[in-house]
Amino acid sequence: MVPVIYRSEYLSYDFGPDHPFSPLRLAMLVELLEVLDPGWNPEPPPQARREEVLAVHAERYLRRVEAAARGERPPGLVDYGLGTSDTPAFAGMDAAARWLVGGTLTAARLVASGQARRVLQLGGGLHHAQFDRASGFCVYNDLAVAIHHFLEAGLRVLYLDVDVHHGDGVQWIFYEDPRVLTLSLHESGRYLFPGTGGVFEIGQGGGTGYSWNVPLEPYTGDACYLEAFEQVFEKALAWFLPDVILVQAGADAHFLDPLADLMLTTRAYERIFTRVLEGAERYTEGRAVFTLGGGYSFDAAVRVWTLLYFLLQGLQPPGALPEGWLQRWRARLGHELTATLHDPAPPPAVPRRPEIERYNRGNAARLLDVVRKYLSPD
Ligand SMILES: [Zn+2]
Repeated sequence: MVPVIYRSEYLSYDFGPDHPFSPLRLAMLVELLEVLDPGWNPEPPPQARREEVLAVHAERYLRRVEAAARGERPPGLVDYGLGTSDTPAFAGMDAAARWLVGGTLTAARLVASGQARRVLQLGGGLHHAQFDRASGFCVYNDLAVAIHHFLEAGLRVLYLDVDVHHGDGVQWIFYEDPRVLTLSLHESGRYLFPGTGGVFEIGQGGGTGYSWNVPLEPYTGDACYLEAFEQVFEKALAWFLPDVILVQAGADAHFLDPLADLMLTTRAYERIFTRVLEGAERYTEGRAVFTLGGGYSFDAAVRVWTLLYFLLQGLQPPGALPEGWLQRWRARLGHELTATLHDPAPPPAVPRRPEIERYNRGNAARLLDVVRKYLSPD
């Protein structure tokens, strides 16, 4: 049984009913996994301590989050990314964010100590949070705290970010560190938040060559995405030789996602997750940690993460979703939900644009050209 880290306190990370980062997605997911897997038995993590969060964040920033959590609104709060429309301040936000950090840190501890090879943190993935600033729905960077723990344990980390948005927070925190290779595939920053993640952001100082970005054109579909992914992922493993892989498994590159424009189906996600597990077997003695991330179509995100759960457990994913669960959540959300785990049909046709393929392929090739001299043994 692969450990799954979760506790109901994760649901308190809640920016309010109109915010896209809704805890309902997680509630839906947990309820579905309870029904589908008789072996469902998540491990509740401890809350991350303040000092653990301070490993990757500025103290002055923590003080602002703590004040906002108490309902105070000190001047200059927005300079710390708090109280914005993306990341509104809410009562208890410090504690809520520390529950998520605690989960990802627990996952990292289990793997670093050799107690587990694979772990699924059923939450977290707050990749936009910066050293001294909240950003894009992310308060504390649980991924960076976990990476810090791996580094302390002497493990070199391949961080793979398949969220549709650039994994900027993790990238900047480890921008000068050659012990962490960050690899983010995302919709191009020319069209999408946070605007960064170009091919030439390759790291700095001793970390030069260790930040990898593959910006993708809007309307990129499965085949084109997977081609770019295969091109760079294998090279990241073979050149960097990581000790562990940490995956931010954002589901917002799915074609149903309302906030972005990539066109992946559940089949592409299945391939990505399978490929990561194969890569871990070959290169890291199986060591891999997965977190959730963005994913704003309730329908798609819950199915992508259910698929991830079953693949990690080595269990056969179900074909159809349980009728009772579908009925409950259709009524609660007031809209239709797909009745099968995989997308039943391909995404709506978009005009075939050969320049999408050319652009994506070119970016993946350009990236490898630029970083080759820093990492490649040849
Ligand atoms: Zn995202």
